[in-house]
Amino acid sequence: MKKLTIPALVISLLFFLSCPASKDTDSPICMDTEKSKTLYKLTKIDSIKRCGTMEVLEKHMARTPTLKSRMDTIEKQCQAFIELRKTGKITDLDTITIPTIVHVIYNKDQENICDDQIISQIKVLNQDFSKTNPDINQIPEEFAGLSKNTRIRFELDSIIRKSSTRTEWGTDDQMKFSSNGGSDVIDSSTKLNIWVCNIGGGILGYAQFPGDDPATDGIVISPQFFGTKGFISPPFDKGRTTTHEVGHWLNLRHIWGDGNCSFDDFVDDTPLSDGPNFGCPQYPTVRCNSNDMTMNYMDYAEDACMYMFTEGQKDRMRAVFAPDGPRVGFVEASINL
Ligand SMILES: [Zn+2]
Repeated sequence: MKKLTIPALVISLLFFLSCPASKDTDSPICMDTEKSKTLYKLTKIDSIKRCGTMEVLEKHMARTPTLKSRMDTIEKQCQAFIELRKTGKITDLDTITIPTIVHVIYNKDQENICDDQIISQIKVLNQDFSKTNPDINQIPEEFAGLSKNTRIRFELDSIIRKSSTRTEWGTDDQMKFSSNGGSDVIDSSTKLNIWVCNIGGGILGYAQFPGDDPATDGIVISPQFFGTKGFISPPFDKGRTTTHEVGHWLNLRHIWGDGNCSFDDFVDDTPLSDGPNFGCPQYPTVRCNSNDMTMNYMDYAEDACMYMFTEGQKDRMRAVFAPDGPRVGFVEASINL
């Protein structure tokens, strides 16, 4: 190594001390939560679209003819896993940990959400997926016995920050490619990638189902609907947009099955319905001759009015981690640690 003279050493040290840390690695200051709630409270709820996942799936199916057969195979594996679980022929796996990467792509300062806001979202995911969410006791008696701890937990792996001149990203996955000004996916077979960027068009978030392209695998959430503190917009300020989208990423469908009363969500213990519920629905809400489970994370109610997954949904999500499941990489990676 070249020997530094004392003046050179002093200059080097001064340079090191005066050099500002990279903006892309430091957390920005959190926006005042109460101020944000007032400033960004949504009043035009009619123009909001809670989830763009099914439209994105349609586009991907049109673009990739083999996707449907891949998803059909995954569905068969999922149903076989559920049957084996029912008959007790296979034991369940332990708690599954999901390393989570958050890509923050921002144009306006408030979109560069602070670390604490990201951590608040991870906390919500862990509460919602383990049935330790503080609002769990609001479930009506009819459904209370169906609520289950999924035993899936989330661990913040890393935060990637990137500024952009683009103000809206839409739902065509451009935010997932650095060549288009976004941020590249990182190992989607062993990590959940979440892109936090302004989607626009009133869309809160969207996800990609198992079986689709690994280069775009993950979920996308607009920043003001991510987490419970900092830059947040009521009534979608309790982190439930991410809970809903991670549900899709783990192969859950919307609870009404995205069709009329004859369409199912492939889950036995959720009631049939013919469409989403909005706002904060009163119990009971009757559709298709039964009470809707409006408080399920996979409906469209406001954040404060959804607080449960069912046992059937738990089995469906855990099926993706089975030895022949599409997300088995997460289990293999944790065993190899
Ligand atoms: Zn959805």
